[in-house]
Amino acid sequence: IAPADMLHFKGGVFTGFVTDVGGRTSHTAIVARSMDIPAVVGAREASRIIRQDDWVIIDGDNGLVIVNPSPIVLEEYRFRQRQAELERERLSRLRHTPAVTLDGERIELLANIELPEDASAALEAGAVGVGLFRSEFLFMNRGGELPGEDEQFEAYRAAVEAMNGLPVTIRTVDIGADKPLDRMSVNELRHEHALNPALGLRAIRWSLSEPGMFRQQLRAILRASAYGKVRLLIPMVAHLSEVKLTLDALARAKQQLTDAGRPYVDVEVGAMIEVPAAALMLPVFLRYFDFVSIGTNDLIQYTLAIDRADESVAHLYDPWHPAVLALVAGTIRQAGEAGKHVSVCGEMAGDPAFTELLLGMGLRSFSMHPAQIAAIKQRVLRADTRRCVARATSLLEAEDPRDQGVRLVAG
Ligand code: PEP
Ligand code: MG
Repeated sequence: IAPADMLHFKGGVFTGFVTDVGGRTSHTAIVARSMDIPAVVGAREASRIIRQDDWVIIDGDNGLVIVNPSPIVLEEYRFRQRQAELERERLSRLRHTPAVTLDGERIELLANIELPEDASAALEAGAVGVGLFRSEFLFMNRGGELPGEDEQFEAYRAAVEAMNGLPVTIRTVDIGADKPLDRMSVNELRHEHALNPALGLRAIRWSLSEPGMFRQQLRAILRASAYGKVRLLIPMVAHLSEVKLTLDALARAKQQLTDAGRPYVDVEVGAMIEVPAAALMLPVFLRYFDFVSIGTNDLIQYTLAIDRADESVAHLYDPWHPAVLALVAGTIRQAGEAGKHVSVCGEMAGDPAFTELLLGMGLRSFSMHPAQIAAIKQRVLRADTRRCVARATSLLEAEDPRDQGVRLVAG
């Protein structure tokens, strides 16, 4: 299933799904998580083995698909399902509880959204803003025809108004690799696959190669800023030249709006830190940006040279890898030293296994799917950041951080 096709599933009748291809943080999986339904991706032979009318258990927590389970297994899973529902109900009562640690540190829990309609789920989950609006979903699955400035503006404004004055961080289009535009011809797609799209013309690279399209998007986002608090986020920057070209494009977009007499606000501009080069030259980037947001999904992909959509290397895609943790910790520390806001918006932020570690690294802002907010809040409420710091320090020095990290989660 392509990520764009997944959007058709939103609000649909499906209660779970299984795919032959894909990795845990491929966009197909991310959209599944945003729909809060069980999914297993990269099951390889699934479509060959599963037949019409088979009974299927989809255990997304453990990455298991059980076809035609025995009555005993079925009963076991029914029990687990009831337990999970009870737990979810219990957690939902935390919705209005402020996210403050035992030692009084206030933590910002934000939502990741794909479409303006998702804003209501973000509010219901108790998010205090949108930390990542993945605008590319407005561009996908429309036969290659791109949305115009007004159409985009309406979508951004809808999200901003729905959030009632809470901040909405809109990321400029992140097209390419696991989020292809469907205007590509079959030949172009083949070419994309033959090369390596994850290292290709994607995200800010694609935007800068289509300056008219890019300015149109920037104008649409700026126009939405007249209706609430908007922050602008730039995906996948790696070169200082990209930073400068982006800021030039923004300045031109503003001038065009001023000339046309359209209102806008001087929005804060942030960079996604998701390429190791950006993490390693952070102090330079911080001179140009108001905030940064760490995209751990891509940061892991590019640090470990593991395509996040490729199931054949999915076992090597490791958020606990010491090199990944060092880059995340370094980014949080340096942003803090520079007095710049930093958050994590990759899947790590919504995984309770990493909450204490990230708090210990100094993180105070997490952005995740609305469905994950309550579980992360529970972790925050039980955490003491002073203890987290000591544990994170020893974990960052560990030879095998995963081993220690699992113990840290266990308490
Ligand atoms: C990331 O890379 O961690 C991220 C948040 O962006 P996306 O998953 O949309 O690539
Ligand atoms: Mg990314």
